[in-house]
Amino acid sequence: MNDPVNEIIDIAVIGGGAAGCMAAIRAAELGQRVALAERNEEIGKKILITGNGRCNITNAAPIEDFIGKFSPDGQFLRSAFFLFSNEDLMEFFRTKGLKLKQESGGCVFPAAGNAGSVTRILEAGLKEQGVSVMRNTRITGVDHRDGMFFLAAERNAGFTAKKVIIAAGGMSYPATGSTGDGFTIAKHLGHTITPLTPALVPLKVKESWIRELQGLGLAKIRIVCNYGNKKLVSGIGDVMLTHFGISGPLALDMSGDIVPLLEHHKELRLAIDLVPAVSAKQFENDLVNIFIANGSAQVKTLIEDIIPRRMASMALALLKLDPAKAANQVTREEREALVAMLKGFPLTVVGSMPVDTAMVTAGGVSRQEIDPRTMGSRIVPGLYFAGEMIEGAAKSGGYNLQQAFSTGYLAGENAAKAGLKGRP
Ligand SMILES: Cc1cc2nc3c(=O)[nH]c(=O)nc-3n(C[C@H](O)[C@H](O)[C@H](O)COP(=O)(O)OP(=O)(O)OC[C@H]3O[C@@H](n4cnc5c(N)ncnc54)[C@H](O)[C@@H]3O)c2cc1C
Repeated sequence: MNDPVNEIIDIAVIGGGAAGCMAAIRAAELGQRVALAERNEEIGKKILITGNGRCNITNAAPIEDFIGKFSPDGQFLRSAFFLFSNEDLMEFFRTKGLKLKQESGGCVFPAAGNAGSVTRILEAGLKEQGVSVMRNTRITGVDHRDGMFFLAAERNAGFTAKKVIIAAGGMSYPATGSTGDGFTIAKHLGHTITPLTPALVPLKVKESWIRELQGLGLAKIRIVCNYGNKKLVSGIGDVMLTHFGISGPLALDMSGDIVPLLEHHKELRLAIDLVPAVSAKQFENDLVNIFIANGSAQVKTLIEDIIPRRMASMALALLKLDPAKAANQVTREEREALVAMLKGFPLTVVGSMPVDTAMVTAGGVSRQEIDPRTMGSRIVPGLYFAGEMIEGAAKSGGYNLQQAFSTGYLAGENAAKAGLKGRP
């Protein structure tokens, strides 16, 4: 192992998350002397909370789908995803003894359902390749002079490196160590940081009555997001209603599209289709038949058979329709209004929760300033970026961790190759 404080090291990696660990392992594998600075005692603190502690490490989808998930700028990641694909990542972990399993939507997890098994393998990989892991080492600044990088560290002595890979994560879940230091360092080195907007984040709605539905889960519903008469985004999946708005997989996934739209529109209308399996016309026919067959039953009881009880009560209250009314007393107008409500329950999105509560930070170091073939800076020779700190984010499903591992691998490989070229 090297002594990073007293000698000039080949490559310094800032951040020991998925991206930084993979970058360090790959660079060291190619024969470089690598030091990895991690501000926490342990590496991979965020990995431990991914996938609810089970770590949805990647997805079994074809690589083209990965590129699509980072739409509209997924092409930037093409080289990274092809050089170190989901298959390569799975192979990497399998050869180190980790059994994996695939679940619905192609999501891949450690078979034992334990994210700790992923960090243990990364830890072992760093050791095996002789990477100097500098724990409790928070890098506070990087200067670039005469082709060398000078890294300053909080509480520790700084060190000097020929190349630097910044993999310090985004701004989300700061308790894991990702507090945005990487952006400050990149900016100081001359890079542009695009707005640090949240992605995979719960959405806030205007309707105060949503509080009464807090904790209610809605499975397999469709959400359509409209502005005026224009349909902007839609999706089908599961949602959780909260005291401020909507969360759950579908809401989080749609937030990636909705949050940027909120920059231009103060409010966006959501229509929640609670019975997406049937068309409005079909649903109206079904309702007529149900009301005829159960003429003396209370309308509330019949609607509760179709949608969750609390949702049914709220729909009737918003329509000012007496829940105790007999089905055969419901007027045509009331029935049509019920159909419209259940096929398009209205909510108004007015914002999102802040970036620190988001699962991913969407903005970051501008892609324009990074060479997609190497992850090298187009501004500072010898500087590389990897992981979430690069502008862009994907929907859930293991794509974000794959991005971190793939960009880390690409950055590590190219920093190492550039270093080897420079050797006599
Ligand atoms: C709750 C939650 C669940 C998630 N679940 C999934 C999932 O199942 N699948 C998926 O694909 N994605 C998931 N994600 C997203 C995924 O975790 C991130 O995209 C990924 O971890 C980013 O990796 P990274 O290495 O770029 O950054 P990070 O994991 O954030 O790592 C950055 C590291 O840098 C260190 N660091 C920061 N500043 C400094 C500094 N100044 N000096 C030294 N070290 C520093 C940090 O301590 C940290 O260890 C989830 C995110 C969250 C918050």
